[in-house]
Amino acid sequence: MTAYDRSLFWFRRDLRDDDNAGLHYALASSRQVFCVFVFDREILDALPGRADRRVEFVLESVAELRESLRARGGELIVLHGRAGDEIPALAARLGVAAVFANEDYEPAARARDAAVERALASAGRRQHLAKDQAIFARDEILTQAGGPFVVFTPYRRAWLAKVDDYYLKAYPVAKRAERLAKPPFATGLPTLASLGFEPTNLRALPVPTGMSGARRLFADFRSRMADYRTARDFPATKGVSYLSVHNRFGTTSIRDLARAAWKGKGEGPATWLSELVWRDFYFQILWHHPHAATGAFRREYDAIAWPGRDEHFEAWCGARTGYPIVDAAMRQIAATGWMHNRLRMVVASFLVKDLLLDWRRGEKYFADHLLDFDLSANNGGWQWAASTGCDAQPWFRIFNPVTQSERFDPQGRFIRRYLPELAKVPDRFVHAPWTMPPLEQQAAGCVIGRDYPAPVVDHAAQRERALALFKAVRA
Ligand SMILES: Cc1cc2nc3c(=O)[nH]c(=O)nc-3n(C[C@H](O)[C@H](O)[C@H](O)COP(=O)(O)OP(=O)(O)OC[C@H]3O[C@@H](n4cnc5c(N)ncnc54)[C@H](O)[C@@H]3O)c2cc1C
Repeated sequence: MTAYDRSLFWFRRDLRDDDNAGLHYALASSRQVFCVFVFDREILDALPGRADRRVEFVLESVAELRESLRARGGELIVLHGRAGDEIPALAARLGVAAVFANEDYEPAARARDAAVERALASAGRRQHLAKDQAIFARDEILTQAGGPFVVFTPYRRAWLAKVDDYYLKAYPVAKRAERLAKPPFATGLPTLASLGFEPTNLRALPVPTGMSGARRLFADFRSRMADYRTARDFPATKGVSYLSVHNRFGTTSIRDLARAAWKGKGEGPATWLSELVWRDFYFQILWHHPHAATGAFRREYDAIAWPGRDEHFEAWCGARTGYPIVDAAMRQIAATGWMHNRLRMVVASFLVKDLLLDWRRGEKYFADHLLDFDLSANNGGWQWAASTGCDAQPWFRIFNPVTQSERFDPQGRFIRRYLPELAKVPDRFVHAPWTMPPLEQQAAGCVIGRDYPAPVVDHAAQRERALALFKAVRA
């Protein structure tokens, strides 16, 4: 039974044509389904620079999606404009009765979708949104008292108690692919230049794009999933999945990943599943507590007047803090648009509790540079490190960057990969090179202050200042 003669499916952060809930529902309820992707000027114009790996990643992924839809007998209409204008206009041009898409929980996306829904409704058209990017969203997981969870462990317990084959099942597209329609006009694909962007180094990075890239990464990770728990904290080791950008843009199905982890045996799959649950957890935090997008989740911490200095922020961004683990991590994000999770925690803690800078400055830097930038996960991660978040690192627990370095990069393999100036520094000094005697510095070709900076702050002293800042607000 089809409800509509024609409808339109609008791809956003779900750039795949299989196991796509919204596309599945569009095909199930329409005789003909047109497909569109909009390079939204509102998003593109707000990006910090005109060379942005994300635009390139999306363009390549859209190109693959278009080929795949064509192979199924359909087409992808690709537009460049304000989505809020383009979608109602295209719906009118195609004469569709409904627009289908997948839910997006970010505040700006919710506002956009509400505006599009109003514009469509004023012309007698419907909008249907499906859950696709999370396993459980909004208020699907609530406490026994009926409120949202703010602590992860009980949320995870409730998530695991609720999940079953139903929630992890795929939404196939192939079965009704003959309903994919071609528009009665010619369509093209923009170029990076026509979108107003310049090429980045994305192609030189080991970041495969599109659905095929996600499949390749996941196939590789599945063979390593059993070791995830023991390997995931060591940035020099290939221990994690590297799938975050694919989770961000939906070039993979989260149900597919969660199903593999849920059905897997042992601690590796269970630990990886927990990471996917963190993703849902932060989505629902922002959904229920939108104030956290701009301020502290625990509002009392908005009162902290962060005394950090601008030149220290510049040193952090520019990988010149003098703490090798921090600097190597900051070079990793600049060079690749990705940073290992352990290092995200270390550099975030360092910015807030060693440099005493407002966590939002670091959050913004990550938002500008991460290929996998996701408002909920990034905000959650920063507020965790800053101790301002819902289920955060306690305020009195402050990472020591040297100890973290010794523990998670014992031979300095990661550090040396990104800081070649420390290549010859002996292992015992690589975590704190300023402790190297002058003769050793000469021998290693790494004179502190000349070849590598002295530490910009003293960790022990800054730790005391950070504790005092928190104590003052708590008092
Ligand atoms: C300060 C800070 C900022 C962060 N910013 C982001 C961000 O903008 N986007 C982002 O996707 N992740 C963010 N994370 C979470 C995490 O660091 C990355 O998801 C992870 O490093 C990505 O690598 P991976 O795909 O190999 O992860 P894996 O270890 O293989 O994990 C699998 C997937 O689980 C999800 N995931 C893992 N950890 C988390 C987490 N803590 N919160 C939410 N989802 C998680 C991701 O989708 C990831 O792809 C941040 C963490 C911190 C501490």
